Amino acid sequence: MDDAEMDLYIEAGKVAARVLAQGVRDVREGVPVLSLVERVEGMVIDAGAGLAFPLNVSRNEDAAHDTASRGDERVFGHGDVVKIDLGVHLGGHIADCAATVDLGDHGGLVEASREGLERALDRVRPGVTTGELGALVQQSIESRGFRPVANLTGHGLSPYMIHTPPNIPNVGFQGGAVLCEGMVVAIEPFATTGSGQVSEKPRTEIFQQVAARPVRLPAARRVLEEVRGRRGMPFSRRWLSDPRPDIPLASLAREGILRRYPVLADTPGSLVSQAEHTLIVTGDGCLVTTR
Ligand code: MN
Ligand code: MN
Repeated sequence: MDDAEMDLYIEAGKVAARVLAQGVRDVREGVPVLSLVERVEGMVIDAGAGLAFPLNVSRNEDAAHDTASRGDERVFGHGDVVKIDLGVHLGGHIADCAATVDLGDHGGLVEASREGLERALDRVRPGVTTGELGALVQQSIESRGFRPVANLTGHGLSPYMIHTPPNIPNVGFQGGAVLCEGMVVAIEPFATTGSGQVSEKPRTEIFQQVAARPVRLPAARRVLEEVRGRRGMPFSRRWLSDPRPDIPLASLAREGILRRYPVLADTPGSLVSQAEHTLIVTGDGCLVTTR
């Protein structure tokens, strides 16, 4: 990576850290989910940066991939455990970070994912394996009496690509990929009171174009025109000008042109926390860009 690229990652990280911190302050009982999402996404645009994906706001047993829909009437409630996950990019150089806001009495759960993240970040350096990092995350979370979510992972980042190898697991195992200087990686422990496995809910608000092919349906063609500027980064149904885009979105997904990102949830009634930072592996450790 050259210095100019490094600067873009660092600058995107600064914007993401500042906006996420403001978003955390804005999550309060009685606040509409849609107004929080619009405010946070607006702050990124006002900073002259782009959104690498729609702001994810996932509550309680929902671990990831929820966001506000158009006309969303949901309001943050007493006791909610709210994950906000923000992706900012500058010229495709992505900063991915997340935090959990506890509107109840779940401080230990929030602390578990945060501590898992800090312990993993402390260990990052060239030569460390993803299996070792996963073991640190798992130990931190289990020592507080919770489970790590085993089927959600951190990941590498490349220009305009949110998920590239290596995966950074939230559980330990022998071996795994070896981190090298210059890699850009997001680590994101999830702690849960549930089973430690997430599965897909029917609700789907986030999509990503994964193939380019001519389509006949005019409404589908319009969707593809509108998301062309995303260069393959995910988008929200709410961002489309068509107020009822379900039919074109379903058709594009069926044809393999769009990938759907359904809400991922642990067992009903469970609670999930998440913490995430993006880092660049350096010669003797790492530089956390989203601090
Ligand atoms: Mn994220
Ligand atoms: Mn991530």
